Amino acid sequence: MPELPEVETIVRALRPRVQGRRLLGVDVLDPVLIPGLDGLSIPSRVRKTSRRGKYILLELEPGVLLVHLRMSGRLLWGKTPPEGRIRLVLRFAHGNVYLVDQRRLAQVKYLPRFEDGLGPEPLGDLSWLPQALARSRMPIKGWLLDQRKIAGIGNIYASEILFRAGIDPHRPANSLTPKEVGVLARAIPKVLTEAIAGKGTTLADSEYRQPTGELGGFQLRLSVYGRAGKPCPVCQTPIRRAKISGRSTYFCPSCQT
Ligand SMILES: [Zn+2]
Repeated sequence: MPELPEVETIVRALRPRVQGRRLLGVDVLDPVLIPGLDGLSIPSRVRKTSRRGKYILLELEPGVLLVHLRMSGRLLWGKTPPEGRIRLVLRFAHGNVYLVDQRRLAQVKYLPRFEDGLGPEPLGDLSWLPQALARSRMPIKGWLLDQRKIAGIGNIYASEILFRAGIDPHRPANSLTPKEVGVLARAIPKVLTEAIAGKGTTLADSEYRQPTGELGGFQLRLSVYGRAGKPCPVCQTPIRRAKISGRSTYFCPSCQT
């Protein structure tokens, strides 16, 4: 599933193409999406293109078009339809945004206003982190995945962040020392920023593409995710895989304590 770095990469690529432009038409090719688009009136200018957690937001006049790509969605930019199952087309004078989604899991919604129940953004101020962690006994890996606690981090980057911070993913959130919380608070934006610079992660089994159709590049720089049995890039100990909060977690049993 696209996480913050992938969604941010998509938003940054779409912004110069659609922000300030008039959305001239919306073709809904998958009827499942029709109820969610109730109330949308076209044409409408795209006031702003932004991201919140893993959501892509096109702020219109009025209202917000909200896209969540889930497991298999892609937003591709072009003048002619790309290959794959196209569920939605957003038409602009100079090109179109295509929602291509083989498994039809992506969600699109038009809302008068976007009101979310999401936690704070991990790239903003994290001074609230010590208090929030102190209140939770969840394993720190599961805590990072909880979108109500912190928005945008998913399975890949939670593993990578905890590796970077040297913290065992099983540790209860409230067991982290002030020093470890400080290290974690630095690792979170560092890993996410590097992944954005790498244009996100496209693994062998993932559908993520940049709006240009290109793959992401950060998969080449993953330290632990998907690398069970392979040597830790720091200490050569084989990377381990475990299930935490129902999700596969990858970690170095030697570097992460
Ligand atoms: Zn190691």
